[in-house]
Amino acid sequence: MTHLASWDGELVAESEIRISPFSATATYGINVFEGLRAYWRGKEKGHSVLFCEAHIRRLLESASILGIDHRFTQGDLLEALEALIRTAPEADVAVRMTLMIVGDPGESWGSEAPANLAIRYFPAISSLDSVKTARAMTSSWRRPGIGSMPMSVKSGANYLNSRYGLLQSRACGVDLPLFLDERGYVVEGGGANLICRKSEEVLFCSLEQPVLRGITQEYIKSRLADCSNYRVVARPITLPELYVCDEVLLVGTTTEVISIEEVDGRTVIQARGGELCQFVCECLKSAVAEADVIIR
Ligand code: PMP
Repeated sequence: MTHLASWDGELVAESEIRISPFSATATYGINVFEGLRAYWRGKEKGHSVLFCEAHIRRLLESASILGIDHRFTQGDLLEALEALIRTAPEADVAVRMTLMIVGDPGESWGSEAPANLAIRYFPAISSLDSVKTARAMTSSWRRPGIGSMPMSVKSGANYLNSRYGLLQSRACGVDLPLFLDERGYVVEGGGANLICRKSEEVLFCSLEQPVLRGITQEYIKSRLADCSNYRVVARPITLPELYVCDEVLLVGTTTEVISIEEVDGRTVIQARGGELCQFVCECLKSAVAEADVIIR
C-alpha cells in the first residue's frame, strides 16, 4: 500500500520524495522539526492532536532562531497536517513535521535557500495505560552550554549530542542516557524531559539550563501547580538528589511517559505505578480528551 506523506503541503507517495544527499539538511543537519502525536478517538471518529498549536508555534520559532527561511504560516502547517492525518489509519500515530533546507545542493551551512516542509506519520500505540520502564545512566557526554548549541531550538543537529549519549549507554548495556549540563546538574534525556519526585516535592530542571522547553513538561507543571498534594520546584538538580528520588520520569509528546527504574545502577524506589507517574498519565489522557485539534 502506498504510504502518503506531505511535501510542501501536497499529499504525495512518501517513496516519491527525493532530496539531494548534498543538501544543507543532509550534510549539516540544517532543519528544525517537531514530534507530535495524533490519538485515535473512536467516539469522536477522529484523531486528537495533542498540544498541536504549541508544537506548530515552536516549529516556527525554531526556524526563526536558526535563520531558516520559508513560506509557511501557522495556518498552512495546520492545514497540511490535517490533510495528511485524514489519510491515517484509525489508530494512534506519531507525526514528524520538518522544515529542511534542500535547495542549493552543495551550498554551505550558510545556505539561505527557502526551506521545504515534510510531514509523515507512523504507527505509535499509546502506552499511557501501561507505562514503559527503562534503566538509565548519566552520560559522560554533557549537554552543550546555552552559549554553544541552544538545546531550546529543536533542530536535527542537536540530536548528535543525544546520539553520543545513547551509543555510550547501549555500549554499557543500559537503555537510556540522562544528560548533565556543563556544571554537572542533571538536565534531560536524549529526547524527553526529566521530572523527579521526592515525597511531595516535584522537581523540574531550570529552564535557564541547556534543555528543550518541553510542551509536555510545561503542561504537567501547570497541572501540578493546581494540585495541592504537590510542591513544584524548578531549579538545577544534583546527581545525589536524583539518586534518592522516589520517582524519576521522562516525559515528552512522542515518548509520553517512561518510568525510570534504575539510575547509574541505583534502584529508583517507585519505578512502577508510582503516584506521580499515575498523575502524569491521567493529565495526558485528559489533555488528549480536551485537545485543541480533532481531525476527522
Ligand atoms: N527534550 C528533548 C531533547 C526532546 O527531543 C523532547 C521531545 N521533543 C522533549 C524534551 C520533550 O518535548 P515535548 O514535550 O515538547 O515533546
